[in-house]
Amino acid sequence: MFKIRGFSLIFICLLTACSQDTVIPKEQIQEEKNDENIVVTADGKTTFEIINNMEAPKKTVDTIKDELRKAYDDIMQSIHTSYVPSEHITVFLNEGTPSWGLASKIELDLSQENYPLVHELTHSLLGYGGNFDTDNGYFTQEGFAVYMEDQYGKNELYLEKYMKHFLDSDKLIPISKLIDPNQDDGYFRADLPNKEEQSVLWEMSYAHAASFVKYLVDIYGLDKFEQIYDKRDLANKIEEVYGKSVSEIEMDWLAFINNQKGFTHQEKFNLPDFYDKNTTILRLDPIYFAKEPS
Ligand SMILES: [Zn+2]
Repeated sequence: MFKIRGFSLIFICLLTACSQDTVIPKEQIQEEKNDENIVVTADGKTTFEIINNMEAPKKTVDTIKDELRKAYDDIMQSIHTSYVPSEHITVFLNEGTPSWGLASKIELDLSQENYPLVHELTHSLLGYGGNFDTDNGYFTQEGFAVYMEDQYGKNELYLEKYMKHFLDSDKLIPISKLIDPNQDDGYFRADLPNKEEQSVLWEMSYAHAASFVKYLVDIYGLDKFEQIYDKRDLANKIEEVYGKSVSEIEMDWLAFINNQKGFTHQEKFNLPDFYDKNTTILRLDPIYFAKEPS
């Protein structure tokens, strides 16, 4: 629709050679320009406004618009939370700054080929803590955002293969630590002097959460997961909803992971940074992987 309107404007302009007396009012030009950066969802409930901070070409902006429409539907058809999404969400296209998804704004780092649009939109549409804070921890929110990116985004994330690798390397983070309000910051938002170690620890935390969430969804369904999403006191909540303790489910999940195929040598080689990251993982303080006394 926008294209046709844009075309007709040019067409009029050519016919009249844009003479002074047929100048298109400034407001109208502004409107046309704005339309190019606006996406209204099919249900009419949310409007996305794209702010192109990096002079991304129109083709890229159009791709983002299509991805927003599709991701919105995929996410709204997944789980249902009490959170009501903003009617207006501004999507900033940036270069080289971290991606975030908040109530009414999404920051996307387009210098990353695999910018996590589905991931951030999952946060913005399903809610996160009391008010986009960490009141309810990170585990289900980040786990589900990565899960959705893996299912509906353009990138396959090889969650099981990574987990199989961590399991075989004896580098597993206990789930009890990732859901503990006193310890989760030290994983999901680890702030370490060595930034490579920090980024690897973040990624490992996200991978554990996502693989565990995927297991819960695949085995027990979305309806049950919906009941634990973004909930406080997660350990008790999980036991209440699933009828099993976190450590029992963790053992089932790891037995499942153990039966998965790991990366082949060729696959490891083809990943851009598998070996570099693995070297960093081996340098991480073993305390991160230590099992807690039960
Ligand atoms: Zn996230």
